[in-house]
Amino acid sequence: MDTILFLSHTEQDGTLPKAGLEALGAAKELAAAVNATLVAGVFGGSTAPAAAQLAGSGAARALAVTGADFADARYASDAAAAEALARAAGATLVLAPATSRLARVLPGVAHRLGGRVDTHGTGVTVQDGAPTITRWFYRQRMEATLKRTQRPWVILLEGGTRPAFKPEGAAPALEAVAVALGDPQKRTKVTGFKAPKSDAQTIRPDAKLLFVAGAGWTKKQADGKPHTDDAEKLILGFLGATKASLGSSKSLVDLSGEGSAVLTFMSHLNQIGQTGATPRHPKGLATCCHGEEPHVVGWRFVNERRAVNLDPNCGWTRGKADVVYIADAFEVMTKVNALLASKQ
Ligand SMILES: Cc1cc2nc3c(=O)[nH]c(=O)nc-3n(C[C@H](O)[C@H](O)[C@H](O)COP(=O)(O)OP(=O)(O)OC[C@H]3O[C@@H](n4cnc5c(N)ncnc54)[C@H](O)[C@@H]3O)c2cc1C
Repeated sequence: MDTILFLSHTEQDGTLPKAGLEALGAAKELAAAVNATLVAGVFGGSTAPAAAQLAGSGAARALAVTGADFADARYASDAAAAEALARAAGATLVLAPATSRLARVLPGVAHRLGGRVDTHGTGVTVQDGAPTITRWFYRQRMEATLKRTQRPWVILLEGGTRPAFKPEGAAPALEAVAVALGDPQKRTKVTGFKAPKSDAQTIRPDAKLLFVAGAGWTKKQADGKPHTDDAEKLILGFLGATKASLGSSKSLVDLSGEGSAVLTFMSHLNQIGQTGATPRHPKGLATCCHGEEPHVVGWRFVNERRAVNLDPNCGWTRGKADVVYIADAFEVMTKVNALLASKQ
């Protein structure tokens, strides 16, 4: 019989990340389906608030590695904590959220445990009585269903693929697991965070709308000149009013490397597509973007798609968008921003 460990770090306030609650729900369902023992394991600077979120999960034990050494993401301490929790639980299956913190360490932890790891998991089911996962390969172009006989088997589940677990009832008591770390003087020290100002942060995974800007915003327009300054104002105005998330085509973010006029708030992190991100927003609006296949594959989880393009033969009109406005995006977005301003 498998022993399933739900494993997660906590956030700075000691609670579980949202993706952690999703993985917890998956672990609970799987444990019930294969009649396995469920153990919860959490680590972080503080873990007490997470206990309340484990209530009703059915975990036989709730283990915690707690302390200032585990507050910040650092490979050595995160991997040591995850390994200690897996060993203390006697885990044969480990289900964890694919946060950047865990995605970085769990392949190494699986190796230390003599196990196997699968990343990009999107679902956990049971086939022929055995735990089975679905996972993506090739940047979500192929989905596979697979089982493994090797144990321990560590599975990272992508965020946003299932509902978050809703706690119910009394919080379990946390059992402390001790982790010995090496010489603190030799350890990487986290001295602080450098992050863009919150209003300069344009990537908003939880936004209802994805607004994509393509290279057309920097191209010569009808008067024979580019209007990059106007483009910046229109795009930032729209993002400010709607709090939409900003995506880009590859061509637009690559321009900066070629010394061309660019939108200064755009980086490669905004890129959507085959070699970029595949975000999950209910709606998307593409502007000045041609809608070529390597770009549009990044839209596969965007449910309702619209585009504004001057070219009636652009890729969006060929079945890739629900609605295409054949129009000048400068004019359309000026009007849209004015309408948004009149509603505020
Ligand atoms: C292996 C490989 C991987 C790739 N991966 C990616 C990827 O991950 N993501 C990605 O985006 N691309 C990717 N590409 C590149 C992709 O094929 C396209 O070249 C790119 O998406 C084009 O970007 P664009 O539509 O912004 O630019 P362009 O093709 O230059 O299109 C600009 C568009 O703007 C329109 N336009 C101009 N002015 C206006 C206006 N005033 N109003 C309205 N419309 C206007 C034009 O009609 C045109 O359609 C990849 C390519 C390869 C070969």
